[in-house]
Amino acid sequence: MRDWEELRSACEACTACDLHKTRTNCVFGSGSPTARVMFIGEAPGEKEDLSGKPFVGAAGRMLDSFFDAVGISREDIYISNILKCRPPYNRDPLPIEQDMCIKYLYEQIRLISPKIIVCLGRIAAQKLITPNFKITVDHGKWFRKDPYLITAVYHPALLLRDPRKKEDMLTDLKAIKDLLDKT
Ligand code: SF4
Repeated sequence: MRDWEELRSACEACTACDLHKTRTNCVFGSGSPTARVMFIGEAPGEKEDLSGKPFVGAAGRMLDSFFDAVGISREDIYISNILKCRPPYNRDPLPIEQDMCIKYLYEQIRLISPKIIVCLGRIAAQKLITPNFKITVDHGKWFRKDPYLITAVYHPALLLRDPRKKEDMLTDLKAIKDLLDKT
């Protein structure tokens, strides 16, 4: 198995799908490589592509406001995405792109070995939990995928478009923090 730096280097040099042609930066992930919880979104956006860091745009600031509210620190968690390169115009990741890129995420998960995985939004949940996942119905539910506990919350970009979902987001993140405090 590759170590962390070998994995990062391979990801940054990756040309396995067409997204490498339009990326500015490969967005590998950020946070603690020994985190007990990983948050996984779908793909980098424009600000992430430019900076090389995940969740730094408006959606990232929204996510940070919830982290602050429940007492989660970015230094204690790890954040990444299913795709490491930005899809043009922020379109949804294609299934073939997800299949090509997910190997990097699986290796990150094995190396970090978190207790809990939190999918940010429908696309990550459908890839990592079940293809039938319905985010409006199933957010906040817990699933066991040994050796991990896995759940999903709304993608913070959705909360920018639909603030009525903020209450559910707060409830779900409080439950995640409570579980983290117990493990
Ligand atoms: S999105 Fe993933 S598979 Fe495609 S080029 Fe980037 S790192 Fe490689």
